[in-house]
Amino acid sequence: MGSKTRSAGATKPYFIYFGGFLTMYEDKTLVCKDCGAEFVFTAGEQEFYAEKGFQNEPTRCKACRTARKASRPAAGAPREMHDAICANCGKPTQVPFIPREDRPVYCSECFAAMHRA
Ligand SMILES: [Zn+2]
Ligand SMILES: [Zn+2]
Repeated sequence: MGSKTRSAGATKPYFIYFGGFLTMYEDKTLVCKDCGAEFVFTAGEQEFYAEKGFQNEPTRCKACRTARKASRPAAGAPREMHDAICANCGKPTQVPFIPREDRPVYCSECFAAMHRA
């Protein structure tokens, strides 16, 4: 006894002195709102969130968070949107590229509908 091993202790309570108070964090299982998968909000992550003053628990699993980060344009390089007219329904829309005369542009609804079919 008395060893400090913390391996394989993922579900063990984890005590942290935080602002002079003993705070206990425990791994929590949350459900990703994007894909519905369960993921673990670990004690270490909860501590990190508390330190940063974040009020909200993560709502997405790691895979979805990583995917969202990857799909977001790099900081400082906002995507420029261009006005266009949907070739299918004629509604005005915006696209992240300069529309070309020889390439039809579709609004997000028509685009999604076509790709679902
Ligand atoms: Zn997910
Ligand atoms: Zn359309």
